[in-house]
Amino acid sequence: MAAPPITNALTIDFEDWYQGLEIPYSEWDKFEDRIVPVGRKLLRILDEENTKATFFMLGYVAEKHPELVKEIEAAGHEIGTHGFSHTLIYTQTPEVFRAEMERAIGFLEDSTGKKVVGHRAPFFSITKDSLWALDILGELGVEYDSSIFPVLNYRYGIAGSPRFPYKIERENFTLKEFPVSTLQLPKITLPISGGAYFRIYPYQMTKQCLKAVNRSGNAFTFYLHPWELDPDHPKIKLPRRIAGITHYFNLGATERRLRKLLRDFKFAPMKDVFETIKLN
Ligand SMILES: [Zn+2]
Repeated sequence: MAAPPITNALTIDFEDWYQGLEIPYSEWDKFEDRIVPVGRKLLRILDEENTKATFFMLGYVAEKHPELVKEIEAAGHEIGTHGFSHTLIYTQTPEVFRAEMERAIGFLEDSTGKKVVGHRAPFFSITKDSLWALDILGELGVEYDSSIFPVLNYRYGIAGSPRFPYKIERENFTLKEFPVSTLQLPKITLPISGGAYFRIYPYQMTKQCLKAVNRSGNAFTFYLHPWELDPDHPKIKLPRRIAGITHYFNLGATERRLRKLLRDFKFAPMKDVFETIKLN
């Protein structure tokens, strides 16, 4: 008899198309705001596919579009935080990080009346240089984080860190970490679970890699940005280093692939997935 399917975490890094490109947020008002129609398109797809997700909301977007926070909440999704200004955490001081996080969490909690328990860092930017951020998150009442990529690239990652959910014990609190999902191959740890990787690899490759994770008895987390469902968003010239190759790649395939993924695997919000996992 087949084992019951493993429940995986579906996560949305909820930000507009120009907000993840290392453009300072003081300049964001120059760009065309497309998050409302695109956010609603994503909500419609999730509703049609009967799937609930965790929305890691960027504070800037939540404050600008409080109606979206209400719509996401009303649709039964979990609301977590993606910080306020989409700044690389290791370029911030702990004081600035704390102030932005208090603002972002406070706004969401006031809007929904629910405690924010989950966090994902902009650009997965909890690295060896910003582990202090985990302490601040714990002090602010955050219960889980999903920001540590166990690979190393120019912008993120802690190579060799655990690939599956684990506990981070501190004196006054325990934080749960859900690392960004990877597949361990003989010579490399392969990122497999969302964003540009989802658009670059053929769908069958993503599916087989994620199946391998589930076959090993583990849940994976998958992540997506709303703008990846918006192939017509404005084209701006991007430095090669900053997603110059990947940002616009194969956006027309995202919706079809996402719907397949939601039918091929079982998903839930991350806080519910943690309840199905025994942590080390
Ligand atoms: Zn982001």
